Amino acid sequence: MFELLKTDVSSKARLGRLTTTHGVVDTPVFMSVGTQASVKAIDPRELRDMGANIILGNTYHLNIRPGMEILRAAGGLHAFMNWQGPILTDSGGFQVFSLATIRKIQQHGVEFRSHLDGSLLFLGPKEAMGIQRELGSDIAMVFDDCPPHTSTPRELRAAVERTMRWAGECREQPRAPGQMVFGIVQGGINPELREECARALIQLDFNGYAIGGVSVGEPEPEMMRAVELGEQFLPADKPRYAMGLGTPAQLVELVARGVDMFDCVLPTRVARNGTAFTRKGSISIKGGAYKADFRPIEEGCDCFACQNFTRAYLRHLLNVGEILGLRMLSVHNTRMFIKVMEDVRAAIAGGSFGAFRREFAANYVPTQKVLLARAAVAER
Ligand SMILES: [Zn+2]
Repeated sequence: MFELLKTDVSSKARLGRLTTTHGVVDTPVFMSVGTQASVKAIDPRELRDMGANIILGNTYHLNIRPGMEILRAAGGLHAFMNWQGPILTDSGGFQVFSLATIRKIQQHGVEFRSHLDGSLLFLGPKEAMGIQRELGSDIAMVFDDCPPHTSTPRELRAAVERTMRWAGECREQPRAPGQMVFGIVQGGINPELREECARALIQLDFNGYAIGGVSVGEPEPEMMRAVELGEQFLPADKPRYAMGLGTPAQLVELVARGVDMFDCVLPTRVARNGTAFTRKGSISIKGGAYKADFRPIEEGCDCFACQNFTRAYLRHLLNVGEILGLRMLSVHNTRMFIKVMEDVRAAIAGGSFGAFRREFAANYVPTQKVLLARAAVAER
């Protein structure tokens, strides 16, 4: 299911190929987030045209709305949203622990109140895997306990123990035909806990492994450390996925640390605030500086927005509240993330990833605004 094609000489970067029921995914890959069965403001044809070949859906949100009765009747998530490519579904663990009001953590799951209407719900390994089976995703994630980065050591240990136990329960659940299941390594920045969790999950022999408990509001060095701590124990012949990350510059650095798969709401989230990603960092198109700037968002970008519209026009659309403006920024940002990963893969294949990484880091100036937006991840 996963072939490791090449490992970079200057770093841990890997070139791979993941074969799913709905198609082949070249890694490293950026996965666009379609939490509510839609990548916000972008339709499936546009996603295909910009080279997106795997997207995300979310168990917690889809279970609440439209609900499983509708998704079952639709014939699963692919048919419901008319996306025929691979889909990875998150288990809902992250949302239960970040979005919902928890009533009680029990042996086999969590009793919580819906963030939407306060109704009492229960999600555990059995329920999360059952929902993902019916959604028919190509990759399902185990139900984990994702604690905030401010957790005490005692809370962190309890979360890791629960995550390991629940991973075992998830492993026993029936799957959709051809569905892969990934384990999630938790443990914060505690080396012993990361190792213990990784080893326990590897024993369960999942199809891939995610590093969770990142993108929970922690500063960047802590995030990099958490990924390094988890990654070192993971088997080379299985895909590794860093959940909910990050900016383009962070993705390149995480590839260098041996990560194959990423998802992040940033491209579409900041687009809705009028922010565009470029190879030099992010820019606020709404700014007065672009009033009469008739260049595209980014010179050389092959996206539909850059091929057809100017900064001045997009700024105007954003300032008068025309939907096309934020749609075009979403298209550009999503294509930008996908293109960075295409370039990363070409660089690894061509043996020039080390130079690519240095050049990317030298050009990219991160902005505080975007780093702060990354910290607010409850939407995922
Ligand atoms: Zn563009």
